[in-house]
Amino acid sequence: MDTIVPKLRVENLLFSYGEKTAADHVSIQVMPGEFVGLIGPNGSGKSTVLKNVYRALEPDGGTIEIDGEDMKHMSFKESALKMAVVGQENDVPFNFKVSEIVAMGRTPHKRLFDIDTPEDKKIVHHALEHVGMADMEKRNYLNLSGGEKQRVIIARAVAQESDFFVLDEPTNHLDISYQLQIFDFVRRLNVTVLSAIHDLNMAALYCDRLYVLKDGKVVLSGTPEEVLTAENIKEVYGVDCTTEIHPETGRVAITYLPAN
Ligand code: ADP
Ligand code: MG
Repeated sequence: MDTIVPKLRVENLLFSYGEKTAADHVSIQVMPGEFVGLIGPNGSGKSTVLKNVYRALEPDGGTIEIDGEDMKHMSFKESALKMAVVGQENDVPFNFKVSEIVAMGRTPHKRLFDIDTPEDKKIVHHALEHVGMADMEKRNYLNLSGGEKQRVIIARAVAQESDFFVLDEPTNHLDISYQLQIFDFVRRLNVTVLSAIHDLNMAALYCDRLYVLKDGKVVLSGTPEEVLTAENIKEVYGVDCTTEIHPETGRVAITYLPAN
């Protein structure tokens, strides 16, 4: 029987900012088609792990493989083609049009100074359609609302036509309806996903599996049901809660209890 090659395999990743160890022997696997969440308190190392994966940072140790291939042996362009990244801070410095931002998703496919082809334009248009923003192609990015901006950034990732998305808390600061919308857009793409997610109920709704980071280490992993127990949440976050399987979603739902 053929063994399935993981989309992403992170093995014993080490990364420090000077003296501060932020990723301490982190091992994570994401299988093709999975939606995997990275959770953990502020400062636990989620962004650091993701930045090593999308090569904004260079590991001090360990291995990162995409489709079974060590990233060390890939050019930046090759690895950029293999993953679409949606980071936390997506404010662009200049006032680009929406269509121009989305067209940037085509960059890894092109050589320097290549112009956009009709095919590129079609892909950009389809990507904007996917997030319900086709009528806003000509708008200025900086004038959009937070939810609209993040939809444009998702469209840019879609335009890249990669089958692997790496997301870092993509719905931070968005209203709940936009949070659901962003995760729904991503889920409907049927791509492989690794996403840092701040909100545990949101992680429970969308993820097949979770990894929990604390102080740079993976302390728990498993399905949302296995991981998101009241005991584990108390242990990792220090808060009291009750959990249930929600009758409508069939997913874990957490209710936090105020400290008294
Ligand atoms: P998370 O995304 O889970 O909130 P981060 O990966 O951003 O966590 O941070 C992990 C740890 O590394 C934290 O202690 C944070 O203060 C530290 N850290 C993050 N970025 C830097 C940096 N550029 N320089 C020094 N320390 C950093
Ligand atoms: Mg972070």
